Amino acid sequence: MTIKSNVSLKPFNTFGVSATTKYFTRIEKIADLQTLLKNPIYQQTQKLILGGGSNVLFTQDFEGLLLYNNLKGIQKVKETKEHVWVKANSGENWHQFVLYCVEKNWAGIENLSLIPGSVGAAPLQNIGAYGVELKDVFKELEAFDLQTGEIVIFKNQDCRFGYRESVFKNVLKGRYFVLSVTLKLDKNPQYKLDYGVIRQQLDAMNISKLSVKEVSNAICIIRQKKLPNPKKIGNAGSFFKNPVVSQSFFEKLQNQFPDVPFYRLDADTIKVPAGWLIEQCGWKGKKVGQTGTYKNQALVLVNHGAATGKEVAKLARDIQFSVTEKFNIKLEQEVNTI
Ligand SMILES: Cc1cc2nc3c(=O)[nH]c(=O)nc-3n(C[C@H](O)[C@H](O)[C@H](O)COP(=O)(O)OP(=O)(O)OC[C@H]3O[C@@H](n4cnc5c(N)ncnc54)[C@H](O)[C@@H]3O)c2cc1C
Repeated sequence: MTIKSNVSLKPFNTFGVSATTKYFTRIEKIADLQTLLKNPIYQQTQKLILGGGSNVLFTQDFEGLLLYNNLKGIQKVKETKEHVWVKANSGENWHQFVLYCVEKNWAGIENLSLIPGSVGAAPLQNIGAYGVELKDVFKELEAFDLQTGEIVIFKNQDCRFGYRESVFKNVLKGRYFVLSVTLKLDKNPQYKLDYGVIRQQLDAMNISKLSVKEVSNAICIIRQKKLPNPKKIGNAGSFFKNPVVSQSFFEKLQNQFPDVPFYRLDADTIKVPAGWLIEQCGWKGKKVGQTGTYKNQALVLVNHGAATGKEVAKLARDIQFSVTEKFNIKLEQEVNTI
């Protein structure tokens, strides 16, 4: 294991913005982390874990040690007639892991196909798409305590998962390096097809027999139409969370804006699509210098080529300001700013 100095992070973030890290090292095995604990650079500087870099925005150079996660390996740990427990090391690519499970006809994460990034970052924000969240299939994770070197197991309830939230994003932020994630998947698929246009897409595909693979394929097609490919246009997916408002607030909002789309969570809480709010403020497809919002989805902020992280962050603030002014709603950022 070597520690390199002054490494460019441009190839390591899907926004494709320029930034450097003072120190950089690849974590290939758990022993690398144990060795690092005794290293003076590790002991004296701040640390940042990076997986696929698909949920970060670098607005400045990082003055510490970047731990690039390359822990690979997938294994089946247990199996019954109905279920299978599968453990993936955190440096595995999430989508490749989904495909691995899909090929084996193990169901539960097919709706999470094509989400960029690593397995290890998935619990950080409880990744979700098309009516499924990681927490629905999550069994446990192993994590390395970056302060003590202890390896700790977190069960589902220990992670305190919420909407794009977990304990690792707030009270335990920066404390643990997620080493592996174990999921409990179904051998008898219970498909979730009622979200968005999944059924329409499956109909268009003219499938004779529904399978885990066909659902995954449908999700991939839908996502490819809707979202920009970070290899072609820099972005980090949804930049903001969809705001959750109370029933009384929503009634006033609906009085003023009768067309407002919504998704009821329970009797008193309602989710409003952030993309719609941003679009109503006139930001959809707007270009501001080298940054802007995606033409098909205003919630996705993009880098048209040479944007800096600071420019993207400024655009995000301007969007937040417009939405607060028009709707009295404060958009919360989903992407991690460094
Ligand atoms: C086109 C596009 C579409 C997207 N669609 C979705 C979507 O549908 N749903 C969704 O939920 N997200 C979506 N995202 C966001 C992103 O893909 C996920 O948040 C993903 O889990 C990030 O993984 P990563 O490895 O790239 O994380 P990184 O960006 O590398 O890191 C994100 C955060 O997690 C921390 N971290 C990373 N790895 C570890 C680890 N092993 N241990 C501890 N901390 C760690 C980092 O320090 C950082 O704070 C999308 C992004 C893009 C670009």
